[in-house]
Amino acid sequence: MVYAEIRMAPELLQEQGLSLDQIVGEMLAGFKRGEKEMQQHGKPIKVGLLLTAMRTAARSSEIAQLAIKWREQGVVGFDIAGKEAGYPPTRHLDAFDAIRQANFHMTIHAGEAFGLPSIWEAVQICGTDRLGHGVRIVDDITFDEANNPVLGPMAAYVRDRRVPLEMCPSSNVQTGAAKSIKEHPIGLLKNLQFRVTLNTDNRLMSDTFMSKEMYLLVHEAGFTLKELQWLSVNAMKSAFIPFDERLTLINEVIKPGFAQAAEELKIKF
Ligand SMILES: [Zn+2]
Repeated sequence: MVYAEIRMAPELLQEQGLSLDQIVGEMLAGFKRGEKEMQQHGKPIKVGLLLTAMRTAARSSEIAQLAIKWREQGVVGFDIAGKEAGYPPTRHLDAFDAIRQANFHMTIHAGEAFGLPSIWEAVQICGTDRLGHGVRIVDDITFDEANNPVLGPMAAYVRDRRVPLEMCPSSNVQTGAAKSIKEHPIGLLKNLQFRVTLNTDNRLMSDTFMSKEMYLLVHEAGFTLKELQWLSVNAMKSAFIPFDERLTLINEVIKPGFAQAAEELKIKF
């Protein structure tokens, strides 16, 4: 792990009277402390914070402003989360407009439980940079008589524009969005070269972590080490930190790290 973007809804931490600014300040201070400790252990990691607004609430504009306010201190983007059905992202258009107009970044959970309309709204109405999950994009992929995949217009747009998909295999199996890791659409989307990235969703409830997700893909869906590197590079390309910092991590940390792993595992790379 060399880079992480952690999402949290500050509005869920206010029960005992903390202000939103106090909450963000404390989370960032915690990340800084963790970064320092990892540095001391010789395993540097950079951690950014995504501020999440709850879809079911009406505080998204406030949270978007909070994210913009803290962008120089370690907040890297804005996000909405929570129940999809009945709570379309268009309910929060003001927040997304504010983020875009501040030249800031956003990701929207869309197309997890809910289908293509949710993805379409997130991409074409809200203008999201990335799709949280986005797994239901496969609903816009069919197969012809020769069993070749045919992309519908929404799937084609997402692939052509390289919209990053934040895929979370274990979580999707647990929520029923996918039958198993083996049958999870991440394999098909990888083969079709969508901008697929691998994520944990929530580590606690899903009882998972990045290495476990990678392990599952290798052992249950036949992913190779090269493909794990591809997922990692995709994720880094899609990160919300500046381009030059992303490039440095890809070229000086991620690729050499995988090359070293291949050598140690005696895998031809
Ligand atoms: Zn999720």
